[in-house]
Amino acid sequence: MGTLDGRRFVIVGNGIAGTTAAEQIRKADATASIKLITNEPYSLYNRIALPPFLKQKVTQQKVMIRSVAWHQERAIDLMLEETVVSVCTSKQEVYLASGKVFPYDVLLIATGGRPNPLPNAGGLANVFNFQTLDDALAISAQIERSTHACVVGASYISYELTEAFRSRGLNTTWLMRGPRFLRRVLDEEGGALVDRIAEKHGVRVVHNVECAEVRGRDGKVTEVLTTDGQTFPCDLLGVGVGITRNVEFLRGSGIQINSGVITDEYLRSNVPNVFAAGDAAEYYDPYVGHHILMGTWDNATNHGKVVGQNMVGASIPYDDVPTYSTTLFHNRIMAFGATPESNPEVESVTWLDEPSESYRRLFFQGERLVGGVIIGQRKGFPKLIDMIKQRTPVKKSEREQVLAQTLT
Ligand SMILES: Cc1cc2nc3c(=O)[nH]c(=O)nc-3n(C[C@H](O)[C@H](O)[C@H](O)COP(=O)(O)OP(=O)(O)OC[C@H]3O[C@@H](n4cnc5c(N)ncnc54)[C@H](O)[C@@H]3O)c2cc1C
Repeated sequence: MGTLDGRRFVIVGNGIAGTTAAEQIRKADATASIKLITNEPYSLYNRIALPPFLKQKVTQQKVMIRSVAWHQERAIDLMLEETVVSVCTSKQEVYLASGKVFPYDVLLIATGGRPNPLPNAGGLANVFNFQTLDDALAISAQIERSTHACVVGASYISYELTEAFRSRGLNTTWLMRGPRFLRRVLDEEGGALVDRIAEKHGVRVVHNVECAEVRGRDGKVTEVLTTDGQTFPCDLLGVGVGITRNVEFLRGSGIQINSGVITDEYLRSNVPNVFAAGDAAEYYDPYVGHHILMGTWDNATNHGKVVGQNMVGASIPYDDVPTYSTTLFHNRIMAFGATPESNPEVESVTWLDEPSESYRRLFFQGERLVGGVIIGQRKGFPKLIDMIKQRTPVKKSEREQVLAQTLT
């Protein structure tokens, strides 16, 4: 095991990316000092288990995946409820809101993102974003006191909230500004299929409406007014309108940021000894040939594995096809690789089988498959991932055929 140089590693963010990186560093270096800093009050928990927790399908205990003791056993200095407010790359120091200052030899930014608030919500109670365990606990408690829920947004999170509210028996209305759920990833047919699935489970789905005002009484939400004059009563309002990466604290540090921290395929930033991983990284993706942002658990986990090794001196490119997989009531949806969300210039072919509620859309960039989305049957999925990884050439005229082949 490892060197004896006592290097100082500082990791900002203890999500799956930061915690996995800390574990990798410890495996490679027995004597390094590792500080893992988070503004949350918890050791690592499973963010993707929060929707099942909200649906009461898993317990809070199952959501927690790393105990404080786990960190102590590995001499990882976990610092809870501490916020990093700035970084000086010339002095190699990070500064905390509490006034603490930590020098580093190697720094990792793994700060993820935070959900965008709904404008016009006016500080009313019972209006929730959904990002943290504390959010899940608060939403769950409010579900018990509610009868009518609205959800605003067309993101995965808006869907997760819709499914949870409905599965816990609330009258649920799902309001979208655009024409469908995941409007760039799904086409019209895919969006209509998701609507049918939600409606089958009793959700009222409303498209092309924009929230003008959130109204309340006694400081609590009572209804959503849309710009076309409709009103939707609710005593619980869920919001899923995208995330903003937590990278503002790096402004002025010399670390290049755009929406996230810009990195190469080794997850190195432009500044020596500073890396980024997970949702916060806007990394160079060799499959599509430019920088992309991802917001998936798999991606953040695998980033953590790669970046931890690179922080101790390896040079491993991140070379993976991330997938996002979740339920759609009784069905499932899975998006993989690059989609128009991360890569607007891709072209697509689509297949739909109404009776089995199965749909797939594959995304191509030039003569290569780069990603896709599947609802329902997953036949051929490994083959698709393999084609992306192998960069198998696919002529434009062969795209439909490739899609058909993966279904047989
Ligand atoms: C409700 C929900 C459901 C999801 N479901 C799925 C799913 O089904 N499938 C899937 O693939 N993905 C899903 N995702 C996305 C997935 O959870 C994320 O992509 C993944 O957790 C990102 O991990 P991360 O380590 O990069 O960042 P995060 O998990 O966001 O961790 C970053 C941590 O850094 C902390 N932090 C931020 N700024 C600072 C600072 N300045 N100082 C100190 N600490 C800071 C944050 O509070 C946070 O604790 C879901 C996300 C949510 C919220």
